[in-house]
Amino acid sequence: MSNKAYITTPIYYVNDIPHIGHAYTTIIADSLARFYRLKGYDTFFLTGTDEHGQKIEQAALAKGKSAKEYADEISAKFKALWDDFDISYDCFIRTTDENHKLGAQKAFETMFKNGDIYKGEYEGHYCVSCETFFTDSQLINDEYCPDCGKITTLVKEESYFFRLSAYQDKLLKWYQDADDCVMPRAKKNEVINFVKQGLRDLSITRASFDWGIKLPPSLNDSKHVLYVWLDALVNYISALGYGTDEKNFSYWPASFHLVGKDILRFHSIYWPAFLMSLNLPLPKHIAAHGWWTRNGEKMSKSKGNVVNPREVTEAYGLENFRYFMLREVPFGQDGDFSQKALIDRVNSDLGNELGNLLNRIIGMSGKYNNYELDSSSVLKFYEKDISTAHAILKNVESYMCELQTNKYLEELWKVLTIANQSITIYEPWTKMKEGKIEEVSAIIALTANLLAKVSILFSPVMPKTAQNIAKSLGFELNAKSYEQLIINEGLLDKTIITPIAPLFPRIEKELMSTPEPAVQIKEIKKELINADKFFASKIQIGTIVKAETIEKSDKLLKLFVDIGEEKPRQILSGIKVYYDTKSLEGMQVCVVTNLKPIKIMGLESCGMVLTAEDKDGITLITPQNVKSVGATVK
Ligand SMILES: [Zn+2]
Repeated sequence: MSNKAYITTPIYYVNDIPHIGHAYTTIIADSLARFYRLKGYDTFFLTGTDEHGQKIEQAALAKGKSAKEYADEISAKFKALWDDFDISYDCFIRTTDENHKLGAQKAFETMFKNGDIYKGEYEGHYCVSCETFFTDSQLINDEYCPDCGKITTLVKEESYFFRLSAYQDKLLKWYQDADDCVMPRAKKNEVINFVKQGLRDLSITRASFDWGIKLPPSLNDSKHVLYVWLDALVNYISALGYGTDEKNFSYWPASFHLVGKDILRFHSIYWPAFLMSLNLPLPKHIAAHGWWTRNGEKMSKSKGNVVNPREVTEAYGLENFRYFMLREVPFGQDGDFSQKALIDRVNSDLGNELGNLLNRIIGMSGKYNNYELDSSSVLKFYEKDISTAHAILKNVESYMCELQTNKYLEELWKVLTIANQSITIYEPWTKMKEGKIEEVSAIIALTANLLAKVSILFSPVMPKTAQNIAKSLGFELNAKSYEQLIINEGLLDKTIITPIAPLFPRIEKELMSTPEPAVQIKEIKKELINADKFFASKIQIGTIVKAETIEKSDKLLKLFVDIGEEKPRQILSGIKVYYDTKSLEGMQVCVVTNLKPIKIMGLESCGMVLTAEDKDGITLITPQNVKSVGATVK
């Protein structure tokens, strides 16, 4: 029976399109899954989307869509991105899948039967945006969410509770016994300290909205839906058939749950407690990575500096991006994305050291040896170099198992340095002049073997590059060559080298347009104005009577807004991404009515509708109750 590995990404919440953070988690997970497959493990790699909850319900409503339509759309974007990125997932789960629903209901039912769920009443400050309750003491200024800063609402409702408090000691024991159960160490200590402060029972259902999984029929209570976090966490077992068809359940427990540090608490406290209640084994590793900044600044939609992974790979190539992310940041720490850092990595690590080595091998073998690769004399002349390399390669795998991908790659690159230096030191051109043909052939084979071994081990990170190198050096990159060249420390069979084009052409300049720096916003904040300056703008209530799309514009809508004048005003507004034209008709908005008319794309715009923008996008400002058109906003 072969070893099994089960690797998961979090399921991504469908309130946002994929950004660099999603790509980072997924690419680490993908590399890990490829690594275990290379080692011959029977591997199952899960990713997917998390689709329930009030936030999705509201976001869908704002766009005039049903929650399911909205979730379908965003979920498809994630799946398309991973497919385009060649992510080797075995299952893409959606929490709206029927099997998942059955699995989640089964989990609830089992925890209920085991006496861990009871009915009570919940009162708390709820942040819709974070789908989280907060206590009085956690709030900022008595009403704002400590995580996202948005206003919370006081919610009092009937709820089912999970006896989390009963698991405090068991969790602490687990953290103590299972050394690497939460990674990295610093994060584990944070979790332990949090649990030591005491755990309160967890409200795990909601009765105030519908977009979620209903309670199991056996409970006969149709008022409630599952709390989105319970629903989401169960995906890791429902994907293996928990509660339905359990033929894949032998993959449980997970080898690695990869998560961002913001959701570590849910994974390292709630999830193991749920699993204990279900009498299931606990995951082996829950590993939390850091966040990404861009050019040293926090990314946000309002700054317009969010790194779009598609844009990066279109400009710089997928494999370069994968290498950069895994090489640049020690796992668990925050990383910074800049084009300069990426270009440096590509030009130096990949171009100068890796690509150049292959070019030199191709060049030497063509010039001195008819492209022949013959390893038979390598050990006779260069055993020392080979054994130094083997000593490094022997230890390198443990770094990957500890998710120290930067260390893993760094060590592999040491072997490339040995190969590059051996050419300089042994001077095949001199040996050729001296007629030492066997030695020249051995130098070619030494360097080719070192490159082949390194390529096999970096193939989980850069699968296509590794395949190209294998093709050029005339070997098949698979579990067999892994065993031959890495495990058994053997050498390449006799073969012919095939010249290929340079793998990493030098990048001379930045290939993506840089976002505007956020200076503008800061300056506006500093400059205070008098009230009369503000009241120079006339803001009135208007009703949108008609909304139309504009040909060739992805952003603008043409609105006709009745503000009590003879005829409705034509106003252009950049809200197309956020609203359906149909959903806008009849909506009341706030209009700045004393602006000079301007022309955009050849169309006149007479006024401006007020909107609010944050990371979830743009929303129109609308009066709480219907007001008569033309009413003044003060
Ligand atoms: Zn919040």
